[in-house]
Amino acid sequence: MRPPLELLGTAGHTGAVTAEQKKSVKHHLKHSFGFSGFKPNQQDIIDASLAGRDLFAALPTGGGKSLCYQLPALVRPGLTVVVSPLIALMKDQVDAARENGLAAAYINSSQDADTARGVWRELSAGKVKLLYVSPERLSGAEFRAALRSFKVAAFAVDEAHCVSEWGHEFRPDYRTLSNLRTEFPDAPIAAFTATATREVQQDVVTQLGLRDPFIVRAGFNRPELRYRVLRKAKAEQQIVNFVAEHPGDPGIVYRSTRKATEQTAEALQRVGVAAEAYHAGLSDDVRSQVQERFVRDGIQVVVATIAFGMGIDKSNVRWILHGDLPKSLEGYYQETGRAGRDGEPADTLLLWGAQDIAIIRRHIENMQVEHEHHAAEERLRQVLRYVESGVCRRTTLLSHFDEHYPGSCGGCDVCLGEIEFDDCTVPAQKLLSAAVRTGEVFGAHHLVDIVTGTATDRVLERGHNELPTFGVGTEHDRQWWLSLARDLESGSYLLRRESEGGRPGGFMLSSKGRLLLRGKESFAAARRADSGPAAKTSSAAKTARGVQAGSAAAQTAAAAQAALRPDQEELFRCLKGLRKKIAGERGVPPYVVFSDKTLKVMTRNRPTDPSALLRCHGVGDRKLEAYGARFLDAIRGFLASGECGEKE
Ligand code: ADP
Ligand code: ZN
Repeated sequence: MRPPLELLGTAGHTGAVTAEQKKSVKHHLKHSFGFSGFKPNQQDIIDASLAGRDLFAALPTGGGKSLCYQLPALVRPGLTVVVSPLIALMKDQVDAARENGLAAAYINSSQDADTARGVWRELSAGKVKLLYVSPERLSGAEFRAALRSFKVAAFAVDEAHCVSEWGHEFRPDYRTLSNLRTEFPDAPIAAFTATATREVQQDVVTQLGLRDPFIVRAGFNRPELRYRVLRKAKAEQQIVNFVAEHPGDPGIVYRSTRKATEQTAEALQRVGVAAEAYHAGLSDDVRSQVQERFVRDGIQVVVATIAFGMGIDKSNVRWILHGDLPKSLEGYYQETGRAGRDGEPADTLLLWGAQDIAIIRRHIENMQVEHEHHAAEERLRQVLRYVESGVCRRTTLLSHFDEHYPGSCGGCDVCLGEIEFDDCTVPAQKLLSAAVRTGEVFGAHHLVDIVTGTATDRVLERGHNELPTFGVGTEHDRQWWLSLARDLESGSYLLRRESEGGRPGGFMLSSKGRLLLRGKESFAAARRADSGPAAKTSSAAKTARGVQAGSAAAQTAAAAQAALRPDQEELFRCLKGLRKKIAGERGVPPYVVFSDKTLKVMTRNRPTDPSALLRCHGVGDRKLEAYGARFLDAIRGFLASGECGEKE
């Protein structure tokens, strides 16, 4: 379970939800959505919503935000308007809601006039409960006036971080949403996002004019994701190998340049993988075709620049591979977050090399505005700390969202004991000693100049070439020492001083750092590919690993439970084939018919009658009626003959 980190402003809202509403919520949860319980925070959010409160909810991707506004929309009288910036995906969102039997419709600029008129007619007839609109439509005063003629009972603003200039996806159209609060004073507004830095939260609350909002900030850990980081050798070959280990599983490869996306897609095609490139240089038509085919399981892999993926609801993305070092941890978190939305295990892999750092540095150096320059440097430092340190990846990643995670997650390469460690006590002491002898005010570059014996002007000016530590570390190269400095920082042996004029401050030693310098502690660091002659794995370091990997066993067991046995795979493939066929007939993406999770539950439970099927996660009345019989037939047929008609 993911408990909320914070639940604010709970006072007074619970009393307002009637017993009847509660009953109705429970009913719709199973019969419309097919779920037997709530995900963390959903119930609180739904209660607050039904009590008529404004709310701000930051939930991670896959946290189940749609249910938080769809379920109240079913329960309360009147129309719920959902604002979503993702025009290309609106149809899928509405189709998905309709598959569950919700009276949903959408209005955006992609529609022709006739279709739009049809929607207005349905609205006038009171036949729509849930209306999706794009922000650019809502920005028209006339449009809002037309909406006012219906009873708008509530607004839900999806991807609400787009309202904030602090967010990484600011949309000017979202600014006009501030009119909603004044023009629809009686309709509560619920804002949802998966991006939750404090600045964004504050900005969203202010811009939308939320009144005493109920605030939920959920834990951002994604236990279903496995994180791995590898040094790049031959990137394309590594990518091909990785995809080969995930046969048939949909996934996204992110590359930093258009050219790399195309070359990688070709490399995958050469080995028979259905892969396509996606980048800003392609026409809108081509891009939407690629997206469409991916969403509908027509192709297995999209190789994309970061332009791809925002808001893609496809819940069965099983892996994400970064072929190059990402520019920020926030972006990396969002991109990896696109896998495993259905809560089933998913793999992520990040490949990086020294070349990537050089490219990003060159890009940073060309930045003109000073604070942007420093911000980009800080982002690079965070990313490097993530890929290099021997600390649980989840701990580093979540600390970025101010979330403390204790480590030993059992689901990252560090905690699974896949990283080799070297005893670096002596080199660490050399670097710490250089810091102490120079007054604990210098940053990594200067300290590394000293230990590597590099006589820069700055070193000579201060006479640091006279220090006993000058040139004591020539057995390693500069990059090696710089990463050691980052390790010492992430391990809190070195602490950064307050920055001056936007520049990062120098290092001082923590008490832990002093113990290490005096030889009262040892220090092991993740092995680096380009390390010098001293890189031997010490047995002491290996022991340290054993300790960290300790509690991993329980987690791995949980993952094993989620996986199917080999003898179940055949039925699973069979059900996936049927799902794809039905999706094609209905013109919706396969995951809209049933999620991977639902198909797995069916595979395990093998229901043969409607009531057993209805007990499966994700099966509600509407889906049971529409195509339940075909799944039951397939399962019965498989049980009788061990074969199936619709293999993937
Ligand atoms: P988000 O928009 O927060 O990324 P979604 O609304 O797409 O998340 O939901 C993610 C997945 O979780 C979907 O497959 C959805 O069907 C599933 N889900 C949502 N609520 C529940 C629930 N209460 N129980 C089980 N699964 C749920
Ligand atoms: Zn871990």
